[in-house]
Amino acid sequence: DDRGRPPDLCYTSGVDLSLSPEEEAFAGEARAWLAANVSRRPEFESFDEGVAWDRAWQRRLAADRWVGISWPSAYGGRDATPVQVALFNAEYARAGAPQPVNRVGINLAGPTLLAHGTEEQRARWLPPILDAGEIWCQLFSEPDAGSDLASLRTVAERVDGGWSVTGQKVWTSYATVARWGVALVRTDPEAPRHRGLSYMVVDLSADGVDVRPLRQITGESEFNEVFLDGVFVPEDHLVGGSGNGWAVANTTLAHERGVNFPFKEQV
Ligand SMILES: Cc1cc2nc3c(=O)[nH]c(=O)nc-3n(C[C@H](O)[C@H](O)[C@H](O)COP(=O)(O)OP(=O)(O)OC[C@H]3O[C@@H](n4cnc5c(N)ncnc54)[C@H](O)[C@@H]3O)c2cc1C
Repeated sequence: DDRGRPPDLCYTSGVDLSLSPEEEAFAGEARAWLAANVSRRPEFESFDEGVAWDRAWQRRLAADRWVGISWPSAYGGRDATPVQVALFNAEYARAGAPQPVNRVGINLAGPTLLAHGTEEQRARWLPPILDAGEIWCQLFSEPDAGSDLASLRTVAERVDGGWSVTGQKVWTSYATVARWGVALVRTDPEAPRHRGLSYMVVDLSADGVDVRPLRQITGESEFNEVFLDGVFVPEDHLVGGSGNGWAVANTTLAHERGVNFPFKEQV
């Protein structure tokens, strides 16, 4: 009974929320693939054994282009629409599929490179993110820079051909198995603190990188300290230009807050 209600509340908006036949077909394709391929993740004695299994699982997903589905097809994605992503995430969660291991690459580094990277950087780094050929980690937090990230003190000084990075990062997930890290570092100590930052890709296998696992009360070591002592970072590993790190890091953080592979508890 609409009597007495304001006229503008008496009508629906007219938005049709039903799925198109193509979207139904897409969801069906994802559901069928997951039903045929998902298996339970076994318990593993060691972190490294678990990561090896996880990499194989992600490789299988990527072989049929079920990782990074919203990415452009030129880099291994499917150009999936937001509705398709939501449908896939719902099917993924419903199937109870294990998480892909390269989450930092898929959800944080990859979208940041798509937004701010050069064509060379995308071509070099994006494909091995999807098949877990190269694991990524996030080198943001420091012992005295957590929520207040802009107070970070790791410095990068200009050297011939690039930068020399020195400092300490902490809580770095996957650092023991990562090849690359997206790092927020201070390149101009004189500038206002948000403007003196730059964003660069650090090679975890480079000289001067020391990864030390942090042992938790559970006995596990999910996080690490990463010490950087004069680590050389080539100029073409800078993402988004010198002094633009805060803006680039906010792209990473926006994706960290908003995008993730679903856990089955979400459905
Ligand atoms: C599961 C997990 C994985 C992580 N992986 C990574 C990683 O891979 N790479 C990485 O760089 N970091 C990682 N982190 C670190 C994470 O980003 C930091 O924990 C986060 O930035 C918060 O910093 P902090 O722990 O130093 O807490 P703090 O900043 O010291 O905050 C401690 C408490 O104080 C509160 N607080 C802080 N400032 C204020 C304020 N101004 N007013 C009121 N309250 C305040 C906070 O809300 C919090 O409750 C990870 C953390 C977790 C939990």
